[in-house]
Amino acid sequence: MRPFKYSTAPDPATAIGLVSANPTAKYLGGGTNLVDLMKEDVMRPAELVDVSRLKYAKIEKKGSGVSIGATATNAFTANDDLIRENYPLLAMAILAGASAQIRNMATNGGNLNQRTRCSYFYDVNMPCNKREPGTGCGALHGVNKNHAIFGWSEKCVATYPSDMAVALAALNAVVQVEGVNNTKRSIPFADFHRLPGDHPELDNNLKQGEFITSIDLPANKFAEKSYYLKIRERSSYAFALVSVAAALVTDGNKIKEVRIALGGVAHKPWRASVAEQWLIGKHATEANFKAAAAAELKNAQPLQHNKYKVALAAKAIIRALEGAMQGGAYGTMEADSTSKN
Ligand SMILES: Cc1cc2nc3c(=O)[nH]c(=O)nc-3n(C[C@H](O)[C@H](O)[C@H](O)COP(=O)(O)OP(=O)(O)OC[C@H]3O[C@@H](n4cnc5c(N)ncnc54)[C@H](O)[C@@H]3O)c2cc1C
Ligand code: SF4
Repeated sequence: MRPFKYSTAPDPATAIGLVSANPTAKYLGGGTNLVDLMKEDVMRPAELVDVSRLKYAKIEKKGSGVSIGATATNAFTANDDLIRENYPLLAMAILAGASAQIRNMATNGGNLNQRTRCSYFYDVNMPCNKREPGTGCGALHGVNKNHAIFGWSEKCVATYPSDMAVALAALNAVVQVEGVNNTKRSIPFADFHRLPGDHPELDNNLKQGEFITSIDLPANKFAEKSYYLKIRERSSYAFALVSVAAALVTDGNKIKEVRIALGGVAHKPWRASVAEQWLIGKHATEANFKAAAAAELKNAQPLQHNKYKVALAAKAIIRALEGAMQGGAYGTMEADSTSKN
């Protein structure tokens, strides 16, 4: 690991000033992703500004919705009563990620900014445009079993790994950020993460030094019918091959509103808008779920080794919608054993 400067920010303005002024500086949340990447020599920040003790850890009502502090831990967030009662989909998605110990360290801001798990990105001996722009993409014609089937470019075929973010995409969350001189902006979740295009080194649309202060959730009509389904190779410490956040509002059995977001298939959480449009006004039947999933997956562009993801994603969409119809997010949540904040 290379030497770096470490400081604990006394207040947000100091933290934002330090990171904005130094392109090699990074915020440090729980460190569960950034420190790993530094140990592997993948990321080499010269300065870390620890923001984990800043007072942005509240989860509170805001208008008709709820605001989640960026420095609140994943465990605290998933166990919070406001979240469990009003946004069970979010709690279910968070609890599907990592392990109790990691969720206890990981912050919400850090979770949104976690980096891809592409093995070429982690191996500094391999070409990777995300790690080192201009070196090529090792995965494009390499081992790309875990990679994207939507929205990739010749420059990068990586997927984005967060579970929490897939639920936030389905819930139309808004990310609140602060920059130098107290400048604030609100970024709708769909615009927060980026597709790789020509600049895969950029995971999201934050500018250098912009600090996530909170994530706002609008009032949720979907609480009673929502579900997060994660398909992975083993049941803990594994990232999603494919995941689905599904949520419905129905009138009897007729679908009035529906949200479907996919994880593990693209460089950002992928809103299945074709399937959503297809389902509006239809009955909530297996046949209709199947047709909607097929309509969405028709546009998939699998790589050499991940064709299986097309069939997997279609089946996962059907199962997640069925789980949502049965009110699954309320029914299956377990409390985390610990919830430090
Ligand atoms: C073994 C293992 C298994 C895992 N499994 C899963 C899984 O199944 N699903 C899943 O979703 N995740 C999984 N994770 C990832 C884990 O969720 C992330 O590492 C964690 O959420 C990152 O949060 P952190 O606070 O530790 O971030 P850090 O590592 O501290 O930071 C990550 C990035 O976010 C930036 N950052 C932090 N806070 C802010 C802020 N407020 N504003 C702007 N930038 C900020 C940092 O500068 C850094 O670039 C796993 C991790 C490990 C180690
Ligand atoms: S897929 Fe993206 S992260 Fe993986 S090797 Fe290619 S450029 Fe790097």
